[in-house]
Amino acid sequence: MLNEVVAKLTNISKHYGEGELVVKALDKLNLDVHKGDYLAVMGASGSGKSTAMNILGCLDRPTFGQYLLNGNAVEDLSDDELADLRNQELGFVFQQFHLLQDASALENVMLPMLYACITPSERKKLAETALERVGLTDRMNNRPNQLSGGQQQRVAIARAIINKPSLLLADEPTGALDSSTTEDVLNLFDDLHKQGITLVLVTHEDEVALRAKKKALFKDGRIIKIS
Ligand code: ADP
Ligand code: MG
Repeated sequence: MLNEVVAKLTNISKHYGEGELVVKALDKLNLDVHKGDYLAVMGASGSGKSTAMNILGCLDRPTFGQYLLNGNAVEDLSDDELADLRNQELGFVFQQFHLLQDASALENVMLPMLYACITPSERKKLAETALERVGLTDRMNNRPNQLSGGQQQRVAIARAIINKPSLLLADEPTGALDSSTTEDVLNLFDDLHKQGITLVLVTHEDEVALRAKKKALFKDGRIIKIS
């Protein structure tokens, strides 16, 4: 069903510091991400985009407010339960790829499955399929420093989708890429979206935002416009 809510943020605030020096990175933010959404998050630097993504990705917890992921209240979970949830339900892609330098592309993609109960041969097969999906079949045994930036980001995307997450989050995924590589990565996101993946992507580039079906504009820790 297309209207199913995957992630629901209600009155989410994230405060750093206290008293007069408090920084409200998020200030009573509300956001519903629906199944099948392709949402671009935009807004000036410092408007709270990354903070919101880290909370959506369960990499950080809010100071106040409620986060429901597939109907489960994230604030009720222990750190271990949160780690499991992150592993099973969420994929995260960063601007700087965050790949293990001493591991091959294949090993990097297999990593999130270490926690899942899957046999080694099954894991390898799934990782190979994910790398095939991102067009890197012939680069599986290369380490990150033997790959271009665009190829490294595709490895990171393969790693992010390996456990079939209900939500794929990408914080400025093309920020470190040149324009032709950006195009490749955006085409890949388009394909993933067509295959039914729910995608939230932070960008300040219009060409990136144009691919998305919805846009959320952040200002001062809130969304001031959804279009
Ligand atoms: P964006 O991604 O839109 O550039 P961020 O979410 O990174 O914005 O930051 C929002 C606000 O929160 C900024 O004012 C930033 O300085 C502040 N901030 C983010 N992380 C921290 C932190 N760990 N400690 C203190 N302030 C922070
Ligand atoms: Mg940011």
